[in-house]
This record gives sequence, structure tokens and C-alpha cells, in this order.
Amino acid sequence: LVSREHRTERSTVEVGGVTIGPGTFTLIAGPCAVESAAQTTEAAQIARSAGATMLRGGAFKPRTSPYAFQGLGEAGLKILADVRDRTGLPVVTEVLSVRDVELVASYADMLQIGTRSMQNFPLLQAVGAAGRPVLLKRGMMNTIEEWLMAAEYIARAGTLDIVLCERGIRTFEPATRNTLDIAAVPLAQHLSHLPVIVDPSHSGGRRDLVAPLSRAAVAAGADGVIIDVHPRPEQARCDGGQALTGPELLPLARQLDDLTTVL
Ligand code: PEP
Repeated sequence: LVSREHRTERSTVEVGGVTIGPGTFTLIAGPCAVESAAQTTEAAQIARSAGATMLRGGAFKPRTSPYAFQGLGEAGLKILADVRDRTGLPVVTEVLSVRDVELVASYADMLQIGTRSMQNFPLLQAVGAAGRPVLLKRGMMNTIEEWLMAAEYIARAGTLDIVLCERGIRTFEPATRNTLDIAAVPLAQHLSHLPVIVDPSHSGGRRDLVAPLSRAAVAAGADGVIIDVHPRPEQARCDGGQALTGPELLPLARQLDDLTTVL
């Protein structure tokens, strides 16, 4: 269903009035984690003033350590929905468990499957049947073929409104958190009709790499980027080291705009 054999033309996916796919470049921005109404509002204002058309933010956070901040859960979803209503930015947020799919779908415009859940097949089937578009991140230890098969699970369960997200894979290189597999962008677009975006924040895991990796994403033909922003990264409860502030996002967004027109 997700292959070019099934559909030869590249697809677009509509999320709350925003179109993702060929002919447009989508900037999604927002906090890694929803920490409070004030922080999410400020992050959304940063996103919107830079030209982002969608808001990201985690209410259920998949953390390596069980002692790390796990997200605000439903309270975080309420904040996201409220900020969406006030800013007009549709919201994408992660769902970690089959148990929470209905709840998350009742607040969010798009459901995110994170890298750690890419092969949680019951979860893929549940989000596919939830009646919302899905952002499917590539598993950090998965091949492109496995990633597309994960998309196939979602498609078979009920929706072809799937956006693929390359977010880096595990390699032997410790200088970055993960290695952005830039070749995966044109390869996935060659094999599948689905839109493909890039997460330059979670792949590199470093603020100074977000701009060059975003530019690389545009050059490789990505359909968008999803970027972490925070009004005060030094106080962030999750991944502050990769978050951009407003003064950092704004010039980057302008550059990406210029690049997309040149290409
Ligand atoms: C995220 O986008 O919040 C996230 C945890 O990303 P990933 O699943 O790619 O690590």
C-alpha cells in the first residue's frame, strides 16, 4: 500500500489544514516535552513567528531512564490542544501505548510513533485505525525496508495518511547521538509515495548541528523538518542541549525558505 507500485505519484498528507508532501516544505517546531502551559505557549509563539505551520510537543515521553521526566500525560495533551486553539497550529504528539491511542487522538491532529516504537506492531495497528494522520519515525536500529513495512502495518489498519520521518540511526560514531541517514530521504521517496521529513534535533542531539542538518534535509529533497524549540533551553526538562531558541530558529527558517525556492 505504501509502495510506488501501489501509487506511482507521490502523496500529500493533510493535517488540520496543513499539507505535507511534494510542492511544499513543512516546518514543524515546538518543545521536545510539554512542561507547562507557559513554556508550550512561548515555544508555539517562537514556532509560529518563524513560519512553522505545525506544533510538536511530547506529553508522553519515552525516556531511557525511568527516573527522568516522563511527560505530563493527559494534562500535557490539554495544554497542546489549548495552544493549538489559540495559535491555529495543528499538533503532532507521540503516543507510546495502545492503551492511550484513543485519548491522544481525541486531542491531537497527528499521532507520532517514536523511534523506539517503530516495530510495536499492535501500536502501529491501533494508530492506523485511530482516524488521524500518523508521523512514523524510523527506528534507530531499523533498515529502510523495515521502516516501510512498519508504515505498511499502519496503512493496512486503515490510513494512508502517513508521513515518514528520518531521525538518525545508531552507528559506531559517538560524536552525535545518532547518525542522520540523509540517503534515506531520497531512497524512501523512491520506494514509497509517502512524504518524508527529517528530524535534525533528535538525530544529531546537538543545537549546533540543527541548522546544517536541516539544510542537508532540504538539499536531499525532504518534504519538511521537525525541530525542537524551547524559550529557555538551559531549563528544559528534556533534551535542552538540542533545542533552538527564537533568535536561532528565525534565521534558520529564512535560510530553509530561500533554499527551497532555489531547489
Ligand atoms: C520526539 O520526537 O520527541 C522523540 C522522542 O523522538 P525520537 O522518537 O525520534 O527519539
